[in-house]
Amino acid sequence: MSSKRLVIVGGGITGLAAAYYAERSFPNLNITLLEAGERLGGKVATYREDGFMIERGPDSYVARKHILTDLIEAIGLGDQLVRNNTSQAFILDPVGLHPIPKGSVMGIPTDLELFRETTLLTEQEKQEVTDLLLHPSEQLTIPEHDIPLGEYLRPRLGDALVEKLIEPLLSGIYAGNIDKMSTFATYPQFVANEQKAGSLFEGMRLMRPLDQTPNTPQMTIKATGQFLSLATGLESLIERLEETLEQSEIRLETPLLEITREDGRYRLKTDHGPEYADYVLLTIPHPQVVQLLPEAHVPELEQLTTHSTATITLIFDQQESLPIEGTGFVVNRRAPYSITACTAIDQKWNHSAPNHTVLRAFVGRPGNDHLVHESDETLQRAVLQDLEKICNRKLEPKQVIISRLIDGLPAYTVGHAERTQRVRDEVSAKYPGIYLAGLAYDGVGLPDCVASAKTMIESIALEQSHAGESIN
Ligand SMILES: Cc1cc2nc3c(=O)[nH]c(=O)nc-3n(C[C@H](O)[C@H](O)[C@H](O)COP(=O)(O)OP(=O)(O)OC[C@H]3O[C@@H](n4cnc5c(N)ncnc54)[C@H](O)[C@@H]3O)c2cc1C
Repeated sequence: MSSKRLVIVGGGITGLAAAYYAERSFPNLNITLLEAGERLGGKVATYREDGFMIERGPDSYVARKHILTDLIEAIGLGDQLVRNNTSQAFILDPVGLHPIPKGSVMGIPTDLELFRETTLLTEQEKQEVTDLLLHPSEQLTIPEHDIPLGEYLRPRLGDALVEKLIEPLLSGIYAGNIDKMSTFATYPQFVANEQKAGSLFEGMRLMRPLDQTPNTPQMTIKATGQFLSLATGLESLIERLEETLEQSEIRLETPLLEITREDGRYRLKTDHGPEYADYVLLTIPHPQVVQLLPEAHVPELEQLTTHSTATITLIFDQQESLPIEGTGFVVNRRAPYSITACTAIDQKWNHSAPNHTVLRAFVGRPGNDHLVHESDETLQRAVLQDLEKICNRKLEPKQVIISRLIDGLPAYTVGHAERTQRVRDEVSAKYPGIYLAGLAYDGVGLPDCVASAKTMIESIALEQSHAGESIN
């Protein structure tokens, strides 16, 4: 057996998936996973008490990204996969709640007849969108370099649609300002579809779920949910991954403090003594990577900003019927509310909170996340105040679950993919054998994190084969 050793730092989904793929790629490799906290999972955590299955962090993943489904099936959890229920979702603007226009895909209309029914835009604004979609300007070209998503979408859809629908829908996921967000790193499918079909409108029509037949009133109520989760809670993915690992040694409450070199290997300082490694995969928040790798001087390495969010879940008795229909709403940033979105959990998932009405509200926007750091009481009061205003009556939840994800989401601004590559190149030049994976680099969704982990393990294997060595 070779004495080569891989140390994975961070026990979130990225770190655990990396250990899983490393075990399959290198059956004899010595693998250690260092996790700072007392539990594995990082942002993935499920509240599982009193029959509830309520997610504190991510609640599902996009079904079309198969890599995570493949992993879930491979570790024997396929029979626990559940799809979300679908129903109407809303946008909350300063006037009130508006149904998301029927037939839209990620906010982009694909059926103009249904789009004309929306109350979100004025008649004049709807006409402007229709004209832009049907007669795109001949000046428009497919961007060859990354540009802000706003700059890409505004001339194709008009400012009104971008600000009133697209921005609230899309910017929350990538924690970004739509006029700074990277088109290539966040929604490359827009450009790809335009390229394929000749216009954004026709391109997005190709993306409509197959079960949507145009011109039927039910069209927006997608018969098939686009998200997957686990009936046993997403934390069971973490637990099963841990059980599956056979050759990895997991050290909880062992934060990595410093990386130095010693005898051609890396010496990793922890509170419990040093660990030695030939390969290190860092899956920890990016600001820590900057501190741990001081020789990798890339100004871009320091540029990635993050922001914090909190989720506040309010549990009510089922008979407390709230005047919030459908699966929930996202909030336009001009609307005077603290919450940024709210999901009706009991409507979205059958397994989550049987016989209860449950609302999960989100707080914290990029550049405006101060409320996240306030006390639980302040957070709860702010959220209740918003929801009472929307429902126009007093609300008395029987239980409240608050989770904070501090510096949880990085902002993917223009040039993100190229910057990530330069950061990786610099790290590889100054710290050969050290790799970076996780939500700061290759996409924030759970499947993106899994793909990031897999790719980095493949990179280690490739480097080995180039070096003519084997770590098996
Ligand atoms: C509120 C919220 C909702 C989300 N919802 C969704 C969703 O519905 N669907 C979806 O696909 N994605 C969602 N995401 C994104 C997704 O949760 C994350 O991208 C993903 O969980 C990140 O996993 P990770 O392993 O890269 O990082 P993390 O989960 O942050 O794990 C990093 C780990 O490293 C550990 N660590 C930190 N420093 C050290 C150190 N020095 N030494 C050792 N260990 C260290 C941490 O304790 C942590 O366990 C959401 C994110 C947030 C914040």
